[in-house]
Parts: sequence; structure tokens; C-alpha cells
Amino acid sequence: MPVASLQLLPTLPLVTDFTTAHCDPVRPAGRFAPSPTSALHLGNLRTALTAWLLARSTGRRFVVRIEDLDQARVAAAGDIASAQLRDLESLGLDWDGPVIRQSERRDLYADAVAGLDTYPCYCTRREIAAATTAPNNADWRPYPGTCRTLDDYQRQARAQTRPPAIRLASRLDSFEVTDLVRGRACGRVDDLVLVRNDGTAAYNLAVVVDDGLQGVDQVVRARDLWSSAPRQAQLAELLGFTPPLYAHTGLVTGPEGARLSKSSGAAGLADLADSGIDRHTVMAWLCCSLGLPEVTDPHELVGSTALTPPTPSGGIHRLNPGPLDGAHGWWSDAVLDVAMLREATTMPRAR
Ligand code: GLU
Repeated sequence: MPVASLQLLPTLPLVTDFTTAHCDPVRPAGRFAPSPTSALHLGNLRTALTAWLLARSTGRRFVVRIEDLDQARVAAAGDIASAQLRDLESLGLDWDGPVIRQSERRDLYADAVAGLDTYPCYCTRREIAAATTAPNNADWRPYPGTCRTLDDYQRQARAQTRPPAIRLASRLDSFEVTDLVRGRACGRVDDLVLVRNDGTAAYNLAVVVDDGLQGVDQVVRARDLWSSAPRQAQLAELLGFTPPLYAHTGLVTGPEGARLSKSSGAAGLADLADSGIDRHTVMAWLCCSLGLPEVTDPHELVGSTALTPPTPSGGIHRLNPGPLDGAHGWWSDAVLDVAMLREATTMPRAR
């Protein structure tokens, strides 16, 4: 198979009560896990296409999960999830099994937390910011452990002021992870929040529980999440799952390197169509930005040799979520010029 290098070793047997109680061992999977807070923009669709292609090219199932735990933001966005699924379908991407919604899985997250070594944390964001600095290249601040050593009396006193979040009592301060193109890297881990102080399961917990229970052993997502991989992989291991192999895709920016905005392509396919950019042009741009031949049906790209990234350098690196240089592919960043896409839509098509 042309992308044989993407194959993984079989996953290890699951060990804890939590995993054996809830896991349905099936063929391993890749996944796409959008938050239904805004329409999928071309960066999201580029990641979705990559995740689908890498899963399908390696004989994996492909699952779609709606990460809708932040109910306030989800409600404010309206029924975005259905539009997101429609956009995936209209690009020709399909998935196995039902689409899972995290809002329907709260009991599972509670079960997972019950088996971990945890403690209540009363710190505000401001208190944490005042007590810490972000390490080099990191977009988050490791928690300094302030509430870990509180005694019962101190806990009771702090509980008068605010409800606690629940944190993992981590025994490590770094953890090794592997990315298909970035290689092996060691990154900081901390006492991460598992349950927010409004009682909602935290993103890091839910993503790890769901990836584990859905048999996801290949996590393809944008590189801005690479720095959370060590914390998630450590949590996976504590819950008895084998940490997945990661594959972090490049980001899509506007012409000046700016984040995509509504007018620069951060719109769903329906909005793009309204502004004169059709689905075929979007697909052609996605293929081209991934260094793949231009097709209308993504099935034609399954197994393409252009999906195989350059071999990562050996050894263990310090985790760096920055852009990658080198050959052009799903791992490299891409620049989107919406004006050019609009022009391309009006041009006669070769095929
Ligand atoms: N739901 C997250 C997002 O839309 C993705 C989480 C992940 O891929 O791990 O940004």
C-alpha cells in the first residue's frame, strides 16, 4: 500500500476497569471532532479532508464527533452542527457509525474522573496567571499546584467563595508523544482541569475519553493543538488507553498571515456559495493546498503517495507547535486568497 508508513502497531490491551466496562473493541479509527460554535472554515475542512484521507488510506474507520460541551457557546451559535455535517457530506466525506455528541456522554466523563487521583481547585484564572509564566513556545500555563496541598480546613474556607474545579494530581511533569511528521517530542504536563467549576467535563478529559472509547488511535487535527498532546496522552495512559499517534496539520491563514475571518474564508460552504464560490472550487483549492491532484471525489485520493510526509528526524525533541518547513503537504501551512477563489469559480473547468 503506498502509504504503508502510516500503519500503526496494534493497540495494547486495555487495562483499567473504566476502559473494559465501556470499550467495544473494534477496528481502530481516525476522527474529526468539530466544536459546533461556528461554521467549518476552509482550515477546518482541510483538516477534515486530511483526517478522512489518512484514516481511509490506512484501513481505519472514520468517526465524527460533535464537541458540544460548552453549551453557552453552542446555543449562541444556533444549529451549526447540522450545517457542519452537511458540509462534510457535500465534499464527499463519509463516516462510520452514528455521530457522537459529547453533551450526551456526561456520565462517561464522570465515571472516568472517579477512577483518577484528583483534588478540588479553587483558583481563579487571575490567581493562576499571577503565579505562573508560560514556558517557551507554549500557549498555556502549567498549573503551579496551589490547591494540591490545601488541608481540609483551608478547603472548607475556600469553598465558601466559589465552587471548585477538579484537577488531576499528576505524578509527572513531562510526557512523550509521537506525531507522524514531527516525530517524538517531550512536552510539559501539569495538574490539568478535568471538570470545570460549573460541573462540565473539561475539553481535555472529554476528548481523551471519547478517543479512547471510540477506538481512535490516529488523531489528525490542526497544529495549534500539538502543545496539548502530552497532557492528553498522559491522561489516556492513566485511563488505560494506548495514547494515539498524532498527525498535526498545518494552519490556513489569510494573505497577510492573519487568522481567517468571515470575509476571508471563515464561512461555511453555504456562505461561500452565496458569495460566488462553489463547492468544486473549494475542493480544488483544498487538494492544491495539500499538494494533492485536483479531484472532485476524495475517494480518488485514498492511498495517494502525496499523503506520506517526510520521515521525521530521530531522537526526542522539545515540543514545538510552530509551522513546519519542507515539502508541501497536509503538514504545511497554507495561505488562502478568497478573491482568487471567486475568480477561479467563474473560469471554465478542465474536467
Ligand atoms: N473540538 C476541537 C476543535 O474544534 C478539536 C479537538 C481535537 O481535535 O482534539 O477545535
